Amino acid sequence: MTHAVIAFGANLGDREATIASATRALAGTEGVTLVAVSPVYETPAIRGDGVDHDAPGYLNGVLAVDTTLEPHDLLDVLQAIETEHGRVRAEHWGDRTLDLDLIDFGGRVLADDRLVLPHPRAWQRAFVLQPWLDIEPDAVLAGRGSVAALRLAAHDEVVRR
Ligand code: ATP
Ligand code: CA
Ligand code: CA
Repeated sequence: MTHAVIAFGANLGDREATIASATRALAGTEGVTLVAVSPVYETPAIRGDGVDHDAPGYLNGVLAVDTTLEPHDLLDVLQAIETEHGRVRAEHWGDRTLDLDLIDFGGRVLADDRLVLPHPRAWQRAFVLQPWLDIEPDAVLAGRGSVAALRLAAHDEVVRR
């Protein structure tokens, strides 16, 4: 059994409904037990060139699970749930109904064509670190240190819903 942390984000459509439905889908997946659901934060969209206040805002948070799946199989599950919820792969960092990122998989470190662990940008994203901290105050991000310290150093805007 491996403990894993998954970040969710949604900035199109009925964001609350999408997140609730995706959480149910994940909890109902064989080999996955949902352990915790974080509070939800409202955050502005980020493009390649910084914050875009004209784009629809995101709802972000994290889910903690225990799983018997291997990391790539869990990524398959996450991508299938994204597709079921209308995710269309268009521009990188473009608007989307649902984004599910695998942030941490039992502290595992790996990098291949499909999967990088831990998620390479999570360490600097307050919209990941803050909700993770809410449910796991002692969490550590492999190779980066405590989530609490990383959160203090991250400057994105996050507003609790
Ligand atoms: P970011 O990764 O900066 O949050 P994004 O979520 O918008 O950007 P996507 O377009 O959703 O990026 O994903 C691009 C690819 O990233 C996916 O096809 C997937 O194979 C790969 N990927 C690598 N590592 C991870 C990970 N830890 N979690 C999710 N996807 C990952
Ligand atoms: Ca993402
Ligand atoms: Ca993603």
